[in-house]
Amino acid sequence: MTEQFPTPVIGMEIHVELKTKSKMFCGCKNDPFGADAPNTHTCPVCLGLPGALPVPNRKAVEWTIRLALALNCSISMESKFDRKHYSYPDLPKGYQISQYDQPIGHDGYLEIGEGEKRSKIRIRRVHLEEDTGKLSHKEIDGENVSLIDFNRSSVPLVEIVTEPDMRSAEEAKEFGKKLHRIVRYSDVSDADMEKGSMRLEANVSVSEHTEITEDNLPPYKVELKNINSFRFMALAADYEIKRQREARARGEKIPQETRGWGEAKKATRLQRVKEDAQEYRYFPDPDLPPMRFKEEMVASIKKSLPPMPDTYAAQFVAAGASYESADILTDDMATAQLVAEALPLVSDGKIFINWFLRNRDTNAALSAADLAKRFADEKGSKVTDEAVIIEWVKTVVDENQNVVAEFKAGKESVLMFLVGKVQKLAAGKADAQVVMRLLRSQIDQYTRSSVAR
Ligand SMILES: [Zn+2]
Repeated sequence: MTEQFPTPVIGMEIHVELKTKSKMFCGCKNDPFGADAPNTHTCPVCLGLPGALPVPNRKAVEWTIRLALALNCSISMESKFDRKHYSYPDLPKGYQISQYDQPIGHDGYLEIGEGEKRSKIRIRRVHLEEDTGKLSHKEIDGENVSLIDFNRSSVPLVEIVTEPDMRSAEEAKEFGKKLHRIVRYSDVSDADMEKGSMRLEANVSVSEHTEITEDNLPPYKVELKNINSFRFMALAADYEIKRQREARARGEKIPQETRGWGEAKKATRLQRVKEDAQEYRYFPDPDLPPMRFKEEMVASIKKSLPPMPDTYAAQFVAAGASYESADILTDDMATAQLVAEALPLVSDGKIFINWFLRNRDTNAALSAADLAKRFADEKGSKVTDEAVIIEWVKTVVDENQNVVAEFKAGKESVLMFLVGKVQKLAAGKADAQVVMRLLRSQIDQYTRSSVAR
């Protein structure tokens, strides 16, 4: 069955809530998770009351440009907001303000994998829209009710859409994790998967072709939605690939549908069948004038971006780190930054990185300079040069004749006392093994030369 439909075709759509102070088109506080009670951060605009006029949040527009640039996108210098019409209780206006044909960012990419497995996942578009309210279904006084909270209504939301470039569940997971990292480096969202400030959807199908092109894409796709971890997404995608291969091999036609992940049964389950392609009747929002961006503005946003995880990872690998170590070090930006700043200050980058990873808990709190110093104290300037150590040993043997006599009389334990004396002269940096060996031979020689005298 695998032979008949060998190639999984996976594309992703990711929603990211921006952490601006206020909402997308009004002055309400953007803090749906921190609100004391439902429906407290609302006003006529985000409640969709007739006649209320939206005013775009400038910061949200800038941050969308910022994220699009971090994802290697081109920026549409002329952009606009469109109304996307559909009817649902969490959407009071009956339409969502989104972007249709002029997304803020387009044609970007993100690279995943290493070495020969390195591949480019193309990003079709990055656009800005508003989030909807949040529905919850509860039982109150024995009755099933649906409750709606508009604290999330009109929170700025960025949608990132990829091309169907992923060929396995593992690749989709890796893409999701990499994107998550870049969103956090860009500092525009909390990107909390559990709370839902970052939400993943994967479109999965399987193809009979081995090479996938624009012209031979499968005639259907199954949307995996409402999945709140990378692990579950990979499990769901793997399950779907298997399920679809078997169904198609039996000659079944797979409907265009939306499925979720049921962790209890370790299976995807049907949520909704899409009859026809939905007609959203997009048109430009007459309340929001088109946007025109200046080159200088885009250039200055680009300049303000920090180095991305790949830049740091390449630097660490060049210093001798393994791909795995570089991956761990670039998981959060503060750690990557710290290690990158300390690297030029240390003698051996590879040893430093391995030492850092072993002592990560205590190291992460230091400045780069303190970190380099601690490394030098513990590792870097350990004295192993025998020509240097022998001078300290000679001094200690000369100055501690009584102790040396005790040692010669068979009291082995006093050797550590002499080692301690040497370390005191060496400020603790002498190699203990070398010190012991040199002490023994020096005492031996000293004895013989005394006898000869
Ligand atoms: Zn509001």
